[in-house]
Amino acid sequence: MSDVCSGPRYLVSFGPKRVPHCFTDVLILGGGLAGLRAALAVDPALSVTVVTKDDLRGSSSQWAQGGIAGVVDPEDRFDNHVADTLAAGGGLCHEDVVDAVVREAPTRIAELIAWGTRFDAANGSLALGREGGHSHHRIVHALGDATGREVMRAVIERTRQLENLSVWPDTFTIDLVTDESGCRGALVWNPSHGKTVVWARRTILATGGAGQLYRETTNPPGVSGDGMALAWRAGAELRDMEFMQFHPTVLYIAGGARSLITEAVRGAGAWLVDRDGRRFMPEFDPRAELAPRDVVSRAITVVMHRTHHANVYLDLSHLDAPTVRARFPGMAETCAKFGLDLARDRIPVRPGAHYMIGGVTVDDSGRTSVPGLFAAGEVTSSGLHGANRLASNSLLEGLVYGARAGAVAAAEVLAERPGGDDFRVPALSAPRVAEPDPGAAALDLADIRNSLQSLMWRHVGVERAGPGLGEALDTVEGWCRYVLPRQFADPQGWQLQNMLQVARLMIRSALERVETRGVHFRADHPEPRPDWRAHLAWLRCDDRPRLEPLPPPAVARS
Ligand SMILES: Cc1cc2nc3c(=O)[nH]c(=O)nc-3n(C[C@H](O)[C@H](O)[C@H](O)COP(=O)(O)OP(=O)(O)OC[C@H]3O[C@@H](n4cnc5c(N)ncnc54)[C@H](O)[C@@H]3O)c2cc1C
Repeated sequence: MSDVCSGPRYLVSFGPKRVPHCFTDVLILGGGLAGLRAALAVDPALSVTVVTKDDLRGSSSQWAQGGIAGVVDPEDRFDNHVADTLAAGGGLCHEDVVDAVVREAPTRIAELIAWGTRFDAANGSLALGREGGHSHHRIVHALGDATGREVMRAVIERTRQLENLSVWPDTFTIDLVTDESGCRGALVWNPSHGKTVVWARRTILATGGAGQLYRETTNPPGVSGDGMALAWRAGAELRDMEFMQFHPTVLYIAGGARSLITEAVRGAGAWLVDRDGRRFMPEFDPRAELAPRDVVSRAITVVMHRTHHANVYLDLSHLDAPTVRARFPGMAETCAKFGLDLARDRIPVRPGAHYMIGGVTVDDSGRTSVPGLFAAGEVTSSGLHGANRLASNSLLEGLVYGARAGAVAAAEVLAERPGGDDFRVPALSAPRVAEPDPGAAALDLADIRNSLQSLMWRHVGVERAGPGLGEALDTVEGWCRYVLPRQFADPQGWQLQNMLQVARLMIRSALERVETRGVHFRADHPEPRPDWRAHLAWLRCDDRPRLEPLPPPAVARS
């Protein structure tokens, strides 16, 4: 490894005597569902600051479609949801984590309802959808296929009632600030005030995933892996970075947005057909279109190669057209913009990067390996998803871990400050980084970003193999050598630096794991290996991954 590829500790220099300072009890980085749920769990006696790089409606949470998984039907059982999650997870789930999260789901869903979320109902009860890998109907959804919009509306309204909360929109977190005692807050930037150091007694990272590392993705533009990169620079452990989940059915129309077509469409009976209209999923898996996402994504990739065609199609023409349009109004509207009738026409789709399974390692309370730093939501690796996330388990994870991180962080603050506030700036030596580089402006950052997205799609996509991964690593390390040492003055540069650092970890992890497991399909090692039933954990100080065994299950499930 080279220090240049690993990058400097801080992306920018900041003299602690020259930047404004701000103090808060709990700092939450990210205003998606995990971050806001954390804010709602903090004791009202404490001050909370939520920093988000866009407004509160720019997150993946806002874009979620299908819904939230939870056992609310009396015919269903916790054990079924646990078994489905473990079956999808390819042997890497922590059974205790899965069990606890599944059991907490009904409480978290009921809480959302109490806060005003209007989930879809049928015959006076919650209408429950079914998605790939689920053995029962257990997905609560809202506005048909716009669950995230409705859940976030209710949660944002709820947080607006908190008097102890300040939200800083359009504010980019450049780095976590650490000293020998752990995380002390973060260095943030916004166009009006420039850099500010926010000192916090506890910091919660809730910055979401990394889908924008790929050319084809369902994720909003800001989902660029920032949180993973800033946790890495701050010395936190990251885990399982090779596991990026691809959504099998992303609308593929040249020039159009890459809209996700929710799994619930297949749950409602849609078929996947090739360019000749032939249904192909039963040939790959007995569960056909309802097989887990990795199976469906891979089958689509095989069929695209076999038919020399850039996509496959979703076909709903055998279903009742008015029902289809009523159940999926958002999707029907998007298709209509391109002259397609969701209920009648074949809809072109292909896989796209969707959900980052790996991330910052957290314990049951959301604590990371850095004292004072918690994390929740898609930025984390909690042990829930294993090597493959079961559909609609991620909003649930954000709710459960957001609530825990917020409550535990607050409890720790309350336990250690019987004397009240103390507004002294902790001793921090001015971080050393390269001087601002006059040549930085000469780099075409958009070009590097596009090239990175294409490279990741080509070599670190649904199928990977050693030679392609090796080529990707050489290329990314080449870019790291001249992009990471520079100092940029705005988010475009910092975001690219974060993307390069996360891409490098993802590629190295994918190279290291010489087996196929969950969403990680190595064409040159197509079988799982029992000796690889373990996590790949990373620390910046080693810059080498190590195999970390799974914890033994501690609870006996009933
Ligand atoms: C199209 C789509 C559909 C989906 N459908 C479902 C579904 O039906 N069910 C399900 O369970 N999951 C679904 N998912 C996944 C799910 O939405 C996400 O995993 C989840 O919302 C992540 O929540 P989060 O709070 O961790 O992150 P996000 O909701 O992504 O929020 C991240 C926040 O961090 C902020 N941020 C990031 N970087 C910085 C920075 N450097 N500085 C400051 N702020 C920063 C962002 O501005 C944002 O506020 C879907 C995802 C997509 C993209």
